[in-house]
Amino acid sequence: MPAQSFATATPSAPAASEEPCCGKPLPVLGRDVAVPLVTGGEVTYAALDYAASAPALQRVWDDVAAYAPYYGSVHRGAGYLSQLSTDLFENSRVTVAEFLDCRDDDQVVFTRSTTDSLNLLASALPADCQVFVFETEHHASLLPWQDARVTYLDAPRTPAQAVETLERALADRTPCDGRGPGSGNGKGPALVCVTGASNVTGEIWPVRELAAVAHAHGARIVLDAAQLAPHHPLSVRDLDVDWVAFSGHKLYAPFGSGVLAGRADWLRAAEPYLAGGGASKKVARRADGGVDVEWHTTAARHEAGSPNVIGVYAIASACRALTEAGFDALVEREQALVRRVREGLADVPAVKVLSLFGDEAPRVGVLSFVVDGWNSSHFAAALSAEYGIGVRDGLFCAHPLVRTLLGSDPQEAGECGAPEAGPGERSLNAIRVSFGAGT
Ligand code: PLP
Repeated sequence: MPAQSFATATPSAPAASEEPCCGKPLPVLGRDVAVPLVTGGEVTYAALDYAASAPALQRVWDDVAAYAPYYGSVHRGAGYLSQLSTDLFENSRVTVAEFLDCRDDDQVVFTRSTTDSLNLLASALPADCQVFVFETEHHASLLPWQDARVTYLDAPRTPAQAVETLERALADRTPCDGRGPGSGNGKGPALVCVTGASNVTGEIWPVRELAAVAHAHGARIVLDAAQLAPHHPLSVRDLDVDWVAFSGHKLYAPFGSGVLAGRADWLRAAEPYLAGGGASKKVARRADGGVDVEWHTTAARHEAGSPNVIGVYAIASACRALTEAGFDALVEREQALVRRVREGLADVPAVKVLSLFGDEAPRVGVLSFVVDGWNSSHFAAALSAEYGIGVRDGLFCAHPLVRTLLGSDPQEAGECGAPEAGPGERSLNAIRVSFGAGT
């Protein structure tokens, strides 16, 4: 079978999968890039912005390059390249389902990104669905629910408080007439959206506990795993979440694809996210001049148009590489780096590390801070220009959270990354360092 022989013969794995056994990071692209400094000369770039976008693993790049000459249309051709591409695309679905430890009847839908995945789920909410979301979420998890009955929950200051806050909100929810799948407790359907690890503080949220509370109240839960998946093994079954969303470009597969995986019923009952070829099974003109459409009930229902097979194959390649390597070495190294940065920053009295749950809370390799008297944008620009260190500055598309952490007025700060405070003034935005394979 062509796809089988391609899949087993072509990808080059050994170098990638052997290194982590020695405690070394998985090889990524862009580790040895020389960048110019404002003071003259060059330095090897220090990429400390993995939370925004991670460079491709060497293994992912190799797999994509090996597949590129065989590129063909997916689900749309009888030819060899089309058949091969279709097999790779569908096999990638299986790989991702295994990576996420999905239930047998879960669907894996390929999207463009986490943002796209959560907007897709928002478009598939049953009528009268109530949505519960903490104000601390990334905008991708905070904003897609505007057309639903959404309740924004106050920022909790401990994981236990997060669970209590959700418990109270769900217990208080008002009955409605909603019917259909997921309408638990006679109160109609409800959805909780929660992030697994914060893109600002790196803190890990009590997902399993929140899922238990959601289910006890007849609600469903979607996990925004954009920051958790690259740093942590994920099990949909074990966490007992109904859906999980993540982006390829944060998981070392920056080729434009993302994932929404989970329960099929809401997705099957919803109108297709996009209308078009691929999502439609049968289309026929009616006698009255209109068009009848029978939509697929599989993941294809929400994947109209020619899919991004390279992006999807890249995600599957990253999932395989991370699974083979195991997360242990990666996590150990990231934690060591976080400790080192924290220790270094602790020596500078002007620095304040941002934290919602306190210093001892478990976190992934993501950490944000402000330096008293420094504008964070200027600080980040100086790190780049004078030291070749790439970090992120701003409000990190989590404006309410960063303002809470900085104690600023909800209306005070402006655009993400805008230089709002001058030297000597209080910072209205922050600096973020984040790690991954290759740092
Ligand atoms: N959720 C979290 C926690 C994120 O950190 C991000 C991106 O920074 C997103 C969602 C959105 O991801 P994307 O931009 O890939 O859609």
